[in-house]
Amino acid sequence: MSAASTAHTPSPAAREFLARRHRLFIDGRWVAAADGGEIVVHDPATEGEIARVACATESDVDQAVAAARRALTGEWSRLNSHQRSRLIWRLADELEANLELATELEVLDNGMPRMVAQYSIARFGCDFLRYYAGWCTKILGETIPVAPQDVPNGESLTYTRREPIGVVGAIIPWNSPLVMATLKLAPALAAGCTVVLKPAELTPLTALLLGDLVRKVGIPDGVVNIVPGHGHVAGAALAAHDGVDKIAFTGSTEVGRKILLAAAGNLKRVTLELGGKSPMVVFPDADLERVIPGATRGAFFLQGQNCMASTRLFVHDDVFDRVVEGVSAMAQAFRLGPGMAPDSELGPLISADQRERVLGYVEAGRQSGAELVCGGEAPPGKGYFMRPTVFGHTNMGMKIAREEIFGPVLCVQSFSDSDLKAVADEANSTIYGLSASVWTRDISTAHRMVNLIDSGQVSINCHAAVDPAIPFGGNRQSGWGREFGREGLDPYLKTKATTVKF
Ligand code: NAP
Ligand code: MG
Repeated sequence: MSAASTAHTPSPAAREFLARRHRLFIDGRWVAAADGGEIVVHDPATEGEIARVACATESDVDQAVAAARRALTGEWSRLNSHQRSRLIWRLADELEANLELATELEVLDNGMPRMVAQYSIARFGCDFLRYYAGWCTKILGETIPVAPQDVPNGESLTYTRREPIGVVGAIIPWNSPLVMATLKLAPALAAGCTVVLKPAELTPLTALLLGDLVRKVGIPDGVVNIVPGHGHVAGAALAAHDGVDKIAFTGSTEVGRKILLAAAGNLKRVTLELGGKSPMVVFPDADLERVIPGATRGAFFLQGQNCMASTRLFVHDDVFDRVVEGVSAMAQAFRLGPGMAPDSELGPLISADQRERVLGYVEAGRQSGAELVCGGEAPPGKGYFMRPTVFGHTNMGMKIAREEIFGPVLCVQSFSDSDLKAVADEANSTIYGLSASVWTRDISTAHRMVNLIDSGQVSINCHAAVDPAIPFGGNRQSGWGREFGREGLDPYLKTKATTVKF
């Protein structure tokens, strides 16, 4: 493994942003937290402090929800769908105009490589907003050709319309902060909802940049509110709040369960995008030239801190050694370094705690008898770096093969069975069902496996194909509901049925 270069001096624009007194964005204004509390933000590549951000209390969440409630029936509700669409589109344009700054802040805050940040913000920030901007004018009800009892045909009209569900509480994780924020904002705004967004405590910066842009493009005050804070305080307050109509949550399965319980009070709607332990199944006829980079990138993208990561690689005995060798060679060749260094391919993990957690899993893997092929340790020096790790000859009896690690750890497992059901049963044998892939040249095998694998997404000869237009979400304990595409709009809408008797 080679080390990428380390030096990075933030640009003047990033320096200016970082040095600000970051407050909460409530009702179109920047306000201090009620108790003056702050979050200290660190760069995971240097471990150094880079900014301080106001930390929302329960009473700040109250203020934000009240502002969102007022905005729901204010100027925002009187905009027509074209006007709403234009505002969302303008937000995308502003984000694009600030792509350099957004990328740099994302890298400093989260640690991901610069190229990854830039690509994902352009594709899932800007494009995602534009995709949903297009939906504003296409939210349709139906006319229903029935007449109420005793009404002669032609003497009544029944129709439905789709109305915004109301105030949305959006709670997001740290692994792709800005993209997570736009994934929540775009469909909510397209539907005409108002939003209180709680970014992850570890990565609040780019959400705050979005606050600037929301204001700049003229989205009415209170439509978007941004409240960085602790999950167990601000997040919990939002999830339990009677003034919130829907929670859109992305994060761990464990916290997803807490959200559900908290939401029970006013029976608010909930969508959950949770964890994963995604299988990638490689048949002996697969094109290994594509399998090896596909498996390596699938497992180590975002340092494996990625819900879709292909962390369980099932490889047929006939090609097992070649695949393990290829994947571990590629993993070892990744250049580890700060995201802003132009040659970095893998950044640090998000925090010291996260790295400890991942190293704990490595130890558990060793103890359970899994073969450590490469990695398994943290390089010396500053930053929460960890070497990409491959375990060969794992099995589903091992904790490392069953539980979501959320770090750069790949478990490879062999199969010899020609019984596709048996292979699929292994692939299905975790609590998760988010993303899976099948690699083969045989179209019948591929589609049989698609039938057998229980997952919100099953890709063929690629892993985790995501696009703003492709529905995304988990089965089993990977979540409730779908995001992206037309389906991603539904949870932000409610249906009203109207019958007119002439
Ligand atoms: P997490 O611990 O579940 O946190 C997610 C968000 O929930 C954070 O904003 C967190 O605040 C907040 N939170 C924590 N406790 C809460 C509570 N009691 N009530 C309300 N909110 C609370 O997840 P994470 O560690 O940030 O992210 C990793 C997890 O996210 C992994 O499991 C991963 O698979 C999942 N994920 C899923 C997807 C998907 O699309 N399916 C995408 C990305 C990540 P704090 O920041 O203060 O902790
Ligand atoms: Mg957390």
